[in-house]
Amino acid sequence: MPQNSVPSGAVVSCHLERPLDDECWRRFDALRRRFDVLALVRPPDPAYGEDEARWLERARTLDPIGLHTHWTSPTHARPSGAGNPAERVRREALWMREHGLAPLWFCGGAWYTDDAVAATVQELGLVDCTPRVGFPDDGVLPTTHSLGQLARGVLSPRLPRYVHAYFHDYDLLNARRRAALIVSLRILGIRRSAADASNAIRKSHGTR
Ligand SMILES: [Zn+2]
Repeated sequence: MPQNSVPSGAVVSCHLERPLDDECWRRFDALRRRFDVLALVRPPDPAYGEDEARWLERARTLDPIGLHTHWTSPTHARPSGAGNPAERVRREALWMREHGLAPLWFCGGAWYTDDAVAATVQELGLVDCTPRVGFPDDGVLPTTHSLGQLARGVLSPRLPRYVHAYFHDYDLLNARRRAALIVSLRILGIRRSAADASNAIRKSHGTR
């Protein structure tokens, strides 16, 4: 692929695993006021006693917002036997919409996906962040870097033209990881213009 046809830009997403945890939420809330971060949120799971009203109150402050599905439990992301994974994605996306939220992105918990999940994500019109390689394209915004890879990458002269790093909300509870993230975001802000980042996102939404 010729270099100039490779989509460029830096995107950072947060998997909000524990949006009901006050300290996780406080840390994330402070961060997103300083940096553009895609918020991919795990919906509340009433089977585990999670408070839907509190969740909605917080989620409604996130705009834009994405869906992060855990198939088994709040702490166990991958499907485990019972249940239809694609059906759960549809149910969660529609539940969000019924409550006035408009998810734009999707990322499968523990990077799980299958053909039916991918087809459902597409049918729901969500941009899929689950792939770990590749470039932004219609309906896809691959997640390429962990927080550690990002922190090392920003110090290297060979950071790829397209970078989509992710972290978890609970990473923000750890002072060392939080500092690494903030330093990286600052460096990315210097190295990448906001126009570049929107270029990658535009491409994933199929509007060039
Ligand atoms: Zn997760």
